[in-house]
Amino acid sequence: MLEKLVGIFSKKQFSSIESSTLDLQKDLISYPALAIIKKLKRSGWEAFIVGGAVRDLLMNVKPKDFDIVTNASPHEIKNLFRRSRIIGRRFRIVHVYIGNETIEVSTFRKPNVSNSLDSYGRILRDNVFGSIEDDVKRRDLTINSLYYDPISERILDYHNGISDLKKREIVVIGKKKERLIEDPLRIVRIIRIAAKLGLTIPLKLKNVMRGAGILLENIPKARLSDDLLKLLVSGKSLQGFNYILELGLDRHIFPNLCLFSPEKKKGSTNLKKDGFIYSALKNLDVAVGNNETISISFIFAVLFWEKISKLKMSYVEQGFSDYLSMQMATSEILQDVNQNFYFQRKHIAGVRELCLLQARFNKFVGKSPFSLVRHARFLSALKLLELRVKLNEVKTENVVWWGKFYRCPDNEKIHMVNVMRGKIGQRRPYKKRRKKKLSTT
Ligand code: ATP
Ligand code: MG
Repeated sequence: MLEKLVGIFSKKQFSSIESSTLDLQKDLISYPALAIIKKLKRSGWEAFIVGGAVRDLLMNVKPKDFDIVTNASPHEIKNLFRRSRIIGRRFRIVHVYIGNETIEVSTFRKPNVSNSLDSYGRILRDNVFGSIEDDVKRRDLTINSLYYDPISERILDYHNGISDLKKREIVVIGKKKERLIEDPLRIVRIIRIAAKLGLTIPLKLKNVMRGAGILLENIPKARLSDDLLKLLVSGKSLQGFNYILELGLDRHIFPNLCLFSPEKKKGSTNLKKDGFIYSALKNLDVAVGNNETISISFIFAVLFWEKISKLKMSYVEQGFSDYLSMQMATSEILQDVNQNFYFQRKHIAGVRELCLLQARFNKFVGKSPFSLVRHARFLSALKLLELRVKLNEVKTENVVWWGKFYRCPDNEKIHMVNVMRGKIGQRRPYKKRRKKKLSTT
């Protein structure tokens, strides 16, 4: 009884808004998400699309994923959907598989209680089921705490998220500092979401983010890497990295690396316009905008190139060969990065390969150019070569030569190599080798 009374008085006011009065893009909702909600509701449960998906639908952006929340327990959800699986250790959620889509369905959960925080105030456990009112409190931003029922076509808004979205402003639910300390990854999430949707981060919040930045050094590498990767492929990576620099977070995300120091504009904290990383991120954003395939290894090779290249030069000066110097420099820098960043093995191998391929762009004669253009990573390696013009490491004419060599037919390729041979001063022209005739004697 007492609990009920406390409940009545403490219940947060919320608005229930008809989605038809807002500019919500219903046709951007995935069929599986709708089907799951319909089935849950038909079985008597509450069910909503929640979080980033509602925010994106209201901003006319196609959501990356759809999260569904319900008052059904994981086992009850699992029993409803034949193709589903309960996952998660910290908090049990259900993955429902429809077609080739996986939709995450979670039970409303409570925010963390104080004994589940560590000495820094970070969340340790996060596994208590609750009501929708509890669930809304644990969410990070007002714009991420909208609950949309696509059947009744109503949005439940507990924290004026719709108004903040209209103002295009990021507002943290609860006390900013506490919420960022509780889970420092929220700092990167704010940057990612602000950059993605062109929202403003108010000055006061920026200051709190700057102050809490050091805590990024203690969060699990895999979580941080996951969110940074999302930022890199968001199509707004340049804006995102400018925020990271502005708030001095680069030194906490990649400690000991000073990754961006040569890239900062003098007297400012933004990336230098048309500098190496600026251009790389700008190209990346254009590629994402054009739905081109993005190579994660390429992104990292670009981010770490200046460091690798500098270290390589120091080995060359010590008398090591070009190739060995590059091998040693790549391994060393990737090892440093790996201390703060979670890398999949295939991506490490990819970065190493892209760096080592750079040395082969200096060989214009012999068989090397022919095998280089057939290499699976040739085009990514060429893109890195093109960016190196910005660092005065490569001449534009060489980039043009390789682009032309890649595209032209075989007989022209032979001609190009022979012209280069003449320029270099070697005598024997390149000929396609004929198979030796077997002796008949
Ligand atoms: P994206 O467009 O990248 O998917 P998102 O906000 O939907 O952005 P998700 O990781 O899909 O991000 O999370 C779904 C929802 O879960 C968020 O909108 C938010 O309500 C909640 N959430 C996710 N991560 C956190 C966090 N670290 N702290 C609090 N709430 C979170
Ligand atoms: Mg999402």
